[in-house]
Amino acid sequence: MQTNLHKRFHDMPSAGVIETILRKCVHCGFCNATCPTYQLRGDELDGPRGRIYQIKQLFEGAEASAELQLHLDRCLTCRSCETTCPSGVRYSRLLELGREAVDSELPRSVVERFKRWAITRLFNSGPIFNLVITCARAIAPLMPASLRASIPEKQSPIDKPDNRHDRKIIMLSGCVQPTLTPNTNAAAIKLLDHFGIQTIEIENRHCCGAVGLHTSQMEQGRAQARKLIDYWWSYIEDGAEAIVTTATGCGVTVKEYVELFEHESAYAERARKISKLACDLSEIIEQELDRKPVQTKPGKRVAVHTPCTMQHGLGLKGKVESILQQTGYQICEVADAHLCCGSAGTYSILQPQLSKQLRANKQVALAIDAPEVIVTSNIGCQLHIADGLNVPVVHWIELLYQGLERK
Ligand code: SF4
Ligand code: SF4
Repeated sequence: MQTNLHKRFHDMPSAGVIETILRKCVHCGFCNATCPTYQLRGDELDGPRGRIYQIKQLFEGAEASAELQLHLDRCLTCRSCETTCPSGVRYSRLLELGREAVDSELPRSVVERFKRWAITRLFNSGPIFNLVITCARAIAPLMPASLRASIPEKQSPIDKPDNRHDRKIIMLSGCVQPTLTPNTNAAAIKLLDHFGIQTIEIENRHCCGAVGLHTSQMEQGRAQARKLIDYWWSYIEDGAEAIVTTATGCGVTVKEYVELFEHESAYAERARKISKLACDLSEIIEQELDRKPVQTKPGKRVAVHTPCTMQHGLGLKGKVESILQQTGYQICEVADAHLCCGSAGTYSILQPQLSKQLRANKQVALAIDAPEVIVTSNIGCQLHIADGLNVPVVHWIELLYQGLERK
């Protein structure tokens, strides 16, 4: 599409990026077919083509409006549309820039800003989040069953090895994962130790910045990312071979630090290096299994939920299935695997109605082949899908670890 940015956006550092993305879209609408919000609402303005058009109008001079803000807020940022688009339109980047522009011209109400601020502070608070979850677990028996089901049970801890190896990787501890599912990283560290890799896990419960970036607090998100870059830098200089994430939501954020800091000279070079080193746990495990195969006890029937951040964001669809199959598990059929479960970062809190509809659909889609267990690779999806389901939902690395333990 032809486009001419309005003069109020000419000086934006990302003006060139916006024009390039807008020009690539030919308005064909193929992307609407795989968009979860378009499927649920049947409204062009709640599909990717309509959102691109609305963002285009904004950057060409239209006023920011509450209606536009709502249509952009309803987007899950699942990127299913990017996978479908034959023209390679970077929709998610355009959406991020569009949301930032709308929010700067049309400030949200005090209540909405407080909600976003509170979510971010709670998730990023470490010890306070830990205390909240400990208290919630203590009073869980007094809660209604529906609320109780949303609080994950405390895990019996897996001991982390302290062996030294020449090969070293950095592992992101994550903000909420150490409290809610600490065994995800512990199981990953055990497996990596088995392959002769030492894990450097900085136990600072530091957010990668995703929570701020998802709640229209771009500067807060960037500040979190800068702190993480500073923490990691000395280990990178000491020769860490990779930065591994066990939550694909964080993984895609770290992978995109290169774009987040492209106009910030103090961090641009470090961000470029970090994005290059960033990889998902599945990439390392797959590579190491080729070198040193392992087999688990005769495998359970497993349904795999591949998070949007993994399949559409990182382009790693099928990796987990391949690892589990290789190690002896039976992979179950899953319907509409390309569709989002509705968790989508903070979406389940900010857009609860659409999120619940998507979860109900996903739970049916994952259960069609009667799995004994469901696995995924992102804490948000894991807890969201598990809510109200009578099939256990775990991180795939925990399942693999348990299989090896039983052998
Ligand atoms: S984003 Fe891609 S698929 Fe969607 S309308 Fe534009 S060109 Fe077509
Ligand atoms: S990111 Fe997902 S919800 Fe948003 S427009 Fe694309 S397909 Fe639809």
